[in-house]
Amino acid sequence: MTYLPSAQRYQHMEYRRCGKSGIKLPAISLGLWHNFGHVDVMENYRKTLHLAFDSGITNFDLANNYGPPPGSAEENFGKLLKDDFRGYRDEMIISSKAGYTMWDGPYGDWGSKKYLVASLDQSLKRMELDYVDIFYHHRPDPETPLEETMYALDLIVRQGKALYAGISNYPAEEAQKAIDILRKLGTPCLIHQPKYSMFERWVEGGLLDVLEKEGVGCIPFSPLAQGLLTNKYLNGIPQDSRAAKSSGFLQTSQVTDEVIDKVRALNEIAQQRGQSLAQMALAWLLKDHRVTSVLIGASRPEQLADSLKCMDNTTFSTEELNQIENILGK
Ligand code: NDP
Repeated sequence: MTYLPSAQRYQHMEYRRCGKSGIKLPAISLGLWHNFGHVDVMENYRKTLHLAFDSGITNFDLANNYGPPPGSAEENFGKLLKDDFRGYRDEMIISSKAGYTMWDGPYGDWGSKKYLVASLDQSLKRMELDYVDIFYHHRPDPETPLEETMYALDLIVRQGKALYAGISNYPAEEAQKAIDILRKLGTPCLIHQPKYSMFERWVEGGLLDVLEKEGVGCIPFSPLAQGLLTNKYLNGIPQDSRAAKSSGFLQTSQVTDEVIDKVRALNEIAQQRGQSLAQMALAWLLKDHRVTSVLIGASRPEQLADSLKCMDNTTFSTEELNQIENILGK
């Protein structure tokens, strides 16, 4: 059956300006790291993408290696773009990245110009796109000169293969250097994609300040700590969860009693706020104006529907914030 997007899709989502750029991103973006590979069920991820677009999510985040197998998330996304979203490309921000191992040999990893240019060409072929909206360098490369990597991003933008350049997983100091180089080249850094959640707060130690000062957007990934910051692990590890799946990046060893004690206590505060824990964890990030968008994952449409409701309450009393700090600091 032909998919027809909801006519109301722009009525409920909040759009936040990405740093000091011309682009606004939805407060919630959808990532395709897990749940969209060849190992996953197409009807399920098709419905998830429909719900996302119907709900005003315009930003879809991919990378060369997403799957499994690597590349398959881009292939599947490309197929759905063709089948279901034909005619809506200009309403979408589609991103890809390169920086982790993608193919054998010395040119399929890290941050050389050789790797970045070839990888994006492969991504465009897999998605059957002429360009992506944002192309990220996925992680800092300790060996390649930063100038070379940033020059490759600049080149890619000038070639029209990406509209904007981004960086991911760069610590504050390296991010500052990358931002400076890109600005000199004439391709300002649009956005930084760091890991940030209630359980992972390194960005508060300087990176957020750099991004604000430089007018660069921030899109935290794994805002639910891969599902830990939800109620799903409160009574053990469900069979269909990321921690239980062999293809999942979350390990059962990360689901410790100590973590679950914190999750249980956070869940109580969420309940008092009339939210699910997932909603509270996302709202907690969105309360900070420096956060442009939170980049969530979802293994089924119901999870996405639940997470989207975080927008109903993104303000926290001082008492709630203190209670949360007490739990996280234990
Ligand atoms: P999340 O922290 O949002 O975790 C998503 C997982 O949480 C889902 O797969 C699901 O787990 C569970 N979940 C989601 N919503 C709910 C809900 N409402 N109730 C209960 N459980 C829920 O993000 P991800 O770790 O998936 O990362 C998001 C995106 O960030 C990626 O797709 C990717 O685009 C990007 N990313 C970028 C990285 C980088 O280096 N730049 C690295 C990692 C991710 P389950 O599958 O168990 O059902």
